[in-house]
Amino acid sequence: MLYYSTNGKNLRVSAREAVLQGLAPDNGLYMPQELKKLPSGFFNSSSVPTFYETSLEVARLFLGEEVPEQDLCELVISAMNFEPKLVEIGPNLYTLELFHGPTLAFKDFGARFLAALTSYFLRDSEKELRVLVATSGDTGSAVASGFFGLPNIKVILLYPAGKVSEIQEKQLTTMGGNVIALKVDGVFDDCQRLVKQAFLDPDLREKADMTSANSINIARLIPQAFYAVHAALVLKELEPLVFSVPSGNFGNLTASVIAKRIGAPIGHFVAATNVNDVVPEYLSSGEFRPRPSVQTVSNAMDVGNPSNFARLQELYSNDLTAMRGEIFGAAFSDDETVDAMKRVHNECRYMCDPHGAVAFLGLERYWAKSGNKGCGVFYETAHPSKFGETVQMATGLEPQMPERLKVILGRKSESTRISADFAQFKEFLTAL
Ligand SMILES: *Cc1c(COP(=O)(O)O)cnc(C)c1O
Repeated sequence: MLYYSTNGKNLRVSAREAVLQGLAPDNGLYMPQELKKLPSGFFNSSSVPTFYETSLEVARLFLGEEVPEQDLCELVISAMNFEPKLVEIGPNLYTLELFHGPTLAFKDFGARFLAALTSYFLRDSEKELRVLVATSGDTGSAVASGFFGLPNIKVILLYPAGKVSEIQEKQLTTMGGNVIALKVDGVFDDCQRLVKQAFLDPDLREKADMTSANSINIARLIPQAFYAVHAALVLKELEPLVFSVPSGNFGNLTASVIAKRIGAPIGHFVAATNVNDVVPEYLSSGEFRPRPSVQTVSNAMDVGNPSNFARLQELYSNDLTAMRGEIFGAAFSDDETVDAMKRVHNECRYMCDPHGAVAFLGLERYWAKSGNKGCGVFYETAHPSKFGETVQMATGLEPQMPERLKVILGRKSESTRISADFAQFKEFLTAL
């Protein structure tokens, strides 16, 4: 399978190049050249395949021509060392819990798969690989955890001082080993600027291979199709299925649409956002107006210019009507989100995190609008204990913190403080 860039249809690269480059040289995003269907026997089989079997089947479609079967099996096994969990919380109402990975957010799927694939493609390289990640929280820890302990790789995390939660800072600064945390005197945009500048610097490029691991890498999307396909398979008797996806950069929704294209029996999608509603607004008005993001309680979705929008456009051939035919947009305020957390807890005895609550609301609105109550699935993208304060405010209860998060809180933080000045960052990287 070859991959093309959303900016230049003539550019074609292998999976290896697409994964190692992240962003295409023309600044476009890589997309698979074709979306073949999964074998029909796979969907018709009377027994539901395991999550591992589903993942392997989907991975084969995208990587099978380049990665030999045995290697692919090992890759999937090592990356997917945890599973999504489908939980029925009401009549025809399911949540797909995606937070059972090491850092308790769905980003673990993408980050672990990207790490496994990157280290596989570079297995014979002598040069050190540096993974530079600017993070405002969840992405950094998922990427660090994915690359942790891999030979010949260093992860350099940049996060804005005072702008991430205490738990997030612990997750970023207590890994040790090949993970280095830099606390930047500045905001997230400064971190991102430093990373971009490093990629352009000839001296730094000479010294080591560098990659960015951010959400535009195609390797992060592929595993997100694994669980969409698998959930649809498990629930296929309950068609029509509606999947509601809490969205920020729209990688999760893009991967879910890809899952449908390769054959998963999903009827409709909901693009659910907080007040950063650029895509729902596009769906209703036809105008795409990126703008600075606004802070909300579902902060992992505080995105003003969603990076995967170009891929979504590509999937619908820039046809707004076609996109509207499959995706329903819905945006919600913080008050509505907190109220939904309370209602779901009271009515279903289920504790949502703020992101999951936005997706639940999206599903509710879609059902009310369409009058069509098939089976609904909303994605739960973070463990509620990562947003303990908001959960407590909504439900009056403190969510139980999983052991693997508790352990981290007891560890000693280690980070290096740097200014937002490129010269200092460069000096640091040169001395590494
Ligand atoms: C990143 C993130 C999202 C948004 O996912 P996108 O793929 O960027 O749309 C939603 N919820 C949580 C908890 C996240 O960390």
